[in-house]
Amino acid sequence: MTTLGDLAGIEVGRLEGVSAARADRLAQMGIETVLDLVTHYPRRYVDRTRQVSIDELLDGDEATVLAQVRKVGSRPTRSRRSMVEADLFDGHGYLHLTFFNQPWRAKQLKEGAEVVVWGKVERFRGRRQMTNPVVDLVGDRTGRVVAVYPQSEKAGLTSEQIATCVGEALARWCADLVDPLPAAVRERERLAGRAWALRATHLPETADEHRIGRRRLGFDELLRLQLVLVMRKRATERDALGIRHSTSGHLVDRFLAGLPFPLTSAQQRAMAEIRADMAGPHPMHRLLQGDVGAGKTLVALAAMLTAVDGGHQAAMMAPTEVLAEQHHANLSALVAGLQVDQAEGSLFSRREVTVALLTHRTTAGARARLRARLADGGVDILVGTHALLTEEVEFADLGAVVIDEQHRFGVEQRAVLRTRGAGERVPDVLVMTATPIPRTAAMTVFGDLDTTVLDELPPGRTPVATVWARGPLEEAAAWDRVRAEVAAGRQAYVVCPLVEGSERVQARSATEEHERLGAGELAGLRVGLLHGQLPAAEKDSVMAGFRAGRLDVLVATTVIEVGVDVPTATVMVIEDADRFGMAQLHQLRGRVGRGADASWCYLLGEGASEESAKRLQALVDSNDGFELAEVDLELRGEGTILGTRQKGVSDLKLASLRRHKKTVGLARAVAFELVDADSALAAHPELAEELTLLVDPDEREYLFKS
Ligand code: ADP
Ligand code: MG
Repeated sequence: MTTLGDLAGIEVGRLEGVSAARADRLAQMGIETVLDLVTHYPRRYVDRTRQVSIDELLDGDEATVLAQVRKVGSRPTRSRRSMVEADLFDGHGYLHLTFFNQPWRAKQLKEGAEVVVWGKVERFRGRRQMTNPVVDLVGDRTGRVVAVYPQSEKAGLTSEQIATCVGEALARWCADLVDPLPAAVRERERLAGRAWALRATHLPETADEHRIGRRRLGFDELLRLQLVLVMRKRATERDALGIRHSTSGHLVDRFLAGLPFPLTSAQQRAMAEIRADMAGPHPMHRLLQGDVGAGKTLVALAAMLTAVDGGHQAAMMAPTEVLAEQHHANLSALVAGLQVDQAEGSLFSRREVTVALLTHRTTAGARARLRARLADGGVDILVGTHALLTEEVEFADLGAVVIDEQHRFGVEQRAVLRTRGAGERVPDVLVMTATPIPRTAAMTVFGDLDTTVLDELPPGRTPVATVWARGPLEEAAAWDRVRAEVAAGRQAYVVCPLVEGSERVQARSATEEHERLGAGELAGLRVGLLHGQLPAAEKDSVMAGFRAGRLDVLVATTVIEVGVDVPTATVMVIEDADRFGMAQLHQLRGRVGRGADASWCYLLGEGASEESAKRLQALVDSNDGFELAEVDLELRGEGTILGTRQKGVSDLKLASLRRHKKTVGLARAVAFELVDADSALAAHPELAEELTLLVDPDEREYLFKS
C-alpha cells in the first residue's frame, strides 16, 4: 500500500516522461515530488459531448470553446504593440482570436492543434471573436472529458504535458493508495475511496466522476485542517489548568439588576454558557459572535465581573487605541457605582469596581502607577491594546480575558495572552468579533474555539432604511434628510471619505470636510468634528456635546465605527461609501437605529467597481449582519477573510469555504468524532502522518503533544 508520505518521497524526475529539463520546469511551478504532482489539480474540465458549438455563441457570452487552430499570423499594430491573430474552427463555425502583447502565442498556437479557449464572445461585423482569451492546449488527448491544468506559461509547460505526467504517476504509484478514512465514515457519508477519487479528478470519464472525486479530495483537505484545530482545542483543554471561578457571588446579578432593561434571551443563553465554562476546570476558549447592537459588550462585561467577584482580575484587549478608549469609557460608565466585596479586611467591606486603561499613549508615569495598582490587585478590569501583551504588564491574578478581535489578533497572540495568568493557571478567554463572520469561516479561522452566537437584537430597534445615493439628486436628498431630522430635534453622523495615508492625513482631510460641509450643505447647523488625532480631552468633550444634544451633526472618521451609542442620532451619511468594506459599512450603519425613532443610512458613491456596487446594493437589501457576511465572502473570496490567519488553509486546493459549506461542517463533525475517540489518532497512523505532511509546521506544534 502506498501512502501520501511515500509519494512525497518520489521525485518527479523518476517519471519516464520527465527529463531533467522538464523536472526543472515543474520545479518552477512548485512541483518537485509525485505528491506535488498529483495534488496539482485540473482547473477546468471540458466535456466534448456538451460543448456549445461556435455558431451558437451569442455576443457577450462567457464561453469555453474546444476547437482546432486553422490559421495563425502576427503583425505589429500601429502603436507598435505586438498582435497575434488566430482562427479556430470546431466543425460548426469560426472564432477569431486576437492577442495583444503576447508575441509567443504565434509559436504556441500551431495550425491543426486542438485548444480550449475561455473568454468573452464579441461579435464584430458578423464575425465571432475573443480578445486575449485564456488558452489551454489540449493536444491529441482523446476521451469524452478533458481535464485542463493550471499551467505556467513562463515555465513553458502545457496542460497536455502536465496531464501526461499525472497519468503516468497515477498508473505507477497511485493504484493501491492507502485510504486513511475509516470505512464506516466513508460509507455513512457516501464519500468515494481515495484512489478512485484521485483518478476521477485527473482522468474523469464523465462529469459526474470528477464531481464525486473532487468532493472526496476536498473533504480530505477540510478534514486535515479540522483535525489540527480540534486536536489543538482538545489539547488545550486537557493540558491547561484553568481557574474554577466561583459563580455563587452576586456581583453579576446586582449589576444586571441595575440595568434599565431586561436581557434578551440570547444574552441570557450566552451568559449561561460562559458562566458554565468559567466554573469548569478547563480554561474557557470561546468565540462570541453577534450582529451590531446585539449587546455583546454586556455579555463580555458579565464574564469579567464573574472573575472580579471571585477576587480575580480581568482584561479586555482591543485592536486599536481608539477602540480601547471607547471600551474603557463604556465599561467605566456601566460599572459606575457598582460595589464588589473586598477580599481582605472586614467582613462587610466593599469597594467600587475599578476599570483602568493602558495603551501606547499612556505616559511613563501613569504606566508606572498603573503597574503598581495592577500588581497589588487595585485594578479589577484593565482595558488596552496589545500593549497589554508586553512582559512588563503583570497582573496580581488575571482570571479572564476578553479579546475584541475584529479579525486582527492571531492565534499566536491569543496563545501569549493565555500565558499571562498567575502561576500555572490559564485565564479564561472570550473572543468577540465586532461583526459577524460566516459560519464556515468561523469554523476555520476560530476552529479551536467554542462558539456562542447572539442571534437576537434587543427589542424596540427600528430597522435602518438604507439608501444608496449615487447621483447629485439623491445626495441632495440625503442632506435634506439631515436638516429635517435636526429640525425635529434629532442628530446625524457624517463619515468622511477614507483616505490613504497616516492617521494624520486622515485627520487633515476630515478637518477640511468639516469646514466644507459647515459652510455648504450643513450651514447653520451645529457641526462637531471627531478624529483620532484630537487630544483625548477634546474627543471626550466633542462626544459629550453630541450626546447631550449640544451638537447636531458629528463629522467623523471611522473612529465612530464601534462603541458610539447615541439613541437620538437617526441619520448616518457615509461619503465615498464604495471605499469601505462590508463589515465596516454595516458597523457604521449600526450607529443609528439604536432608539425607537425611524433611522436612515445614506451611502454616497457611484459604486466604483462591480464588486463595490454589489456590496452597496447588499447593504440596501439587508440589515442582517450574518447574511451580509455571507455575501461578503461570496464577493471577496475566502483568501481575504482567512488571510494568513490559519496557515493550514494553504492546503485548501479543492475545498472552498464558500461553495462547500456542508462539507466544512461535515469535516468538523468527523474530526470531533475521530479525536474524541482517540485523541492522538493512534488508531489512524496514516491520517496522523498526513497531518504532519500537509499541515504547516507552526500548526503542527500543537499536535501530538500528549
Ligand atoms: P454590540 O457590541 O453587540 O454591537 P452593544 O453591546 O454595544 O452591542 O450594545 C448596543 C446597545 O444596546 C447598547 O446601548 C446597550 O446598552 C444596549 N443593549 C444591550 N443589551 C440590551 C437589551 N437586552 N435590551 C436593550 N438594550 C440593550
Ligand atoms: Mg459594542
